[in-house]
Amino acid sequence: MKEVVERIKAAHKIIILTHISPDPDALCSSFALCSALCSFGKEAAVILCEEVAKSLQYIGGEYQIYSSCKQYEADLVICVDCGDLRRLDCAESIAAKYKNDLINIDHHKDNTYFGSINYVKADAAAAGEIIFCLIQVLKPDFTKEEARWLYTAISADTGGFRYSNTTPGTMRIAASLMEYGFDFRAVNKELFETVDYNLLKLKARVMEQVMVSSDGRIASVSLTDQMMQEYCVKEEDAYAMVDIARSIRGVEIAFSLKEKGNHIKVSLRSEKYADVGKIANQFGGGGHMRAAGITLSDITMDDARKLILAACEKELEGQG
Ligand code: 5GP
Ligand code: MN
Repeated sequence: MKEVVERIKAAHKIIILTHISPDPDALCSSFALCSALCSFGKEAAVILCEEVAKSLQYIGGEYQIYSSCKQYEADLVICVDCGDLRRLDCAESIAAKYKNDLINIDHHKDNTYFGSINYVKADAAAAGEIIFCLIQVLKPDFTKEEARWLYTAISADTGGFRYSNTTPGTMRIAASLMEYGFDFRAVNKELFETVDYNLLKLKARVMEQVMVSSDGRIASVSLTDQMMQEYCVKEEDAYAMVDIARSIRGVEIAFSLKEKGNHIKVSLRSEKYADVGKIANQFGGGGHMRAAGITLSDITMDDARKLILAACEKELEGQG
């Protein structure tokens, strides 16, 4: 932390980067950090590889879209919520250019320590918790907007303070953020209780097709390109599909498969004892013990399902 603060104080121009398909923790941590750095007298900008998904536009926040034609100049680059350089996607070249001035702030246990300074806390429920601690050191208080962003980051990654990554410290941070008086109900309504009508209909279809293993411990759902087209839903807006499989009583590992071009995005969740981060690592993915993901390429949905199912069965062997 001391080193991070010293580097920030010495820098003037700071670029903030986060992972591909940024989720609420990635976006909100980046925007809160950017806002705090600006009010601390720095010239800071968040650079993303693509437009924020429609379903996350309520978050707000300013950002630039990466362009390969542009020359990016900075004294310091800060990566937030990203465990692996490759997950920066198009912005990886910025991180590579500034590899000696690269701060890696993250909470993934399989973080590859790619920064010149690595502030990795695997016990933090969200990157937002770490950014909270950092901003506290930089300035006396938060703006209402910064507080809303950090609360959103933490509420999202803890599933509304329900997942096992929630600690008493998480609750204390959330409580002190709530003191700033933003509309926390609106945040949670957006995060957990709001879907577009089309997505609701698509979810109903996915629900009908959920698959459960013979012992009832593994459940999966699949979402093909064709289904998304039929319901006019984009892959980046089709979130929380894995929760459909996870909610079935007795399920230890749930996974979803989502087709996107010639890639398949896999989301894995576990409940009590299986380590899905370990499963994801086997296929070049990553994440946490209870939530992880993989991006598979050039494989059919059917083969992908079989592949992941076999890995899940192996992980459960002799357990539970
Ligand atoms: P989600 O399933 O919500 O997309 O992601 C769950 C967790 O897995 C997150 O912590 C995320 O960072 C990680 N994750 C998701 N997809 C990938 C991936 O393709 N590669 C890696 N390394 N991690 C992923
Ligand atoms: Mn996160």
